Amino acid sequence: AKVPAPDHHTYDLDALEERVRREGGGEVDDSIPQLAGADPDFFGVALAQADGSIRGSGDADVAFSIQSAVKPFLFALALVDTDGDALERVGIEPTGEAFDAIKLESGTGRPPNPMVNAGALLTAALVDGGNAEGRNERILRGLSAFAGRALEVDEDVARNEHLLGDRNHALAHLMRSEGTLALGADEAVEVYARACAVLVDAEALAVMGATLALGGVNPVTGHHVVPSRVARDVVAVMATCGVYDGSGRWMRRVGIPAKSSVSGAIVLSAPGVLGAAVVSPPLDDQGTSVRGRIASELLSEDLDLHLFGSL
Ligand code: GLN
Repeated sequence: AKVPAPDHHTYDLDALEERVRREGGGEVDDSIPQLAGADPDFFGVALAQADGSIRGSGDADVAFSIQSAVKPFLFALALVDTDGDALERVGIEPTGEAFDAIKLESGTGRPPNPMVNAGALLTAALVDGGNAEGRNERILRGLSAFAGRALEVDEDVARNEHLLGDRNHALAHLMRSEGTLALGADEAVEVYARACAVLVDAEALAVMGATLALGGVNPVTGHHVVPSRVARDVVAVMATCGVYDGSGRWMRRVGIPAKSSVSGAIVLSAPGVLGAAVVSPPLDDQGTSVRGRIASELLSEDLDLHLFGSL
């Protein structure tokens, strides 16, 4: 017989932090100086619950750039702004390849899914705004609504991502040549780079994850940020594609829809229950935070959050 799950409100996050801090391994991303300079010992974890309570431990209130953890939210905004048409423009199948693989869906020339770079370049370009500035603003406002507070962009990170993101430029040009990206290639990379450079902390990211997990309603502000159908579509794709070529193992071991990122952050959306975020910069070969994954496994186990936990 199953023992009842512990109360999320009294769960000892400090003890979790202590257990995970002992774990080593992984390499800090070196794609831009701001990421390469991250402290490998940086560690934050936070939970955001349906009643709007937020709890964090470690460096849960210290800012970092959101990086690929922005992708589910760009997908959500694109779905809203295109009235669902984004689902025709981007695939939703897992790739089994790295996040920045220079590869499009064969036959259609569409990006394989919104959780890899090609897909996020496209979803960022599908957000409304008229021009780059308007689109940047709409994205920042949309992300802030998910977080329940005004977020800001790290301009140095945005500039470097734009300048040094050669593979993203390659992907944007490839999609232009296939006719699947309408926006100019450089503009698409710029908009996506700025989205990756948005500053969050584990607490804000946990609220963002919770907003998706709770059907699009932000538990802190009570605002209906996106329709529940959009939240469901996004969380479904996080479950199948959110951890790139590690998504299968993630589903088995953690069992919570999630999105990883090169800043070492992971955002988790446990459907109908809560949102969580973990951040720790050293990454494994799939670009997933090593300690982040361990913390996620423990959270899943301790709080009985595995999607197939009833089996
Ligand atoms: N900004 C990074 C890039 O596009 C994000 C990648 C990631 O976090 N996996 O290369």
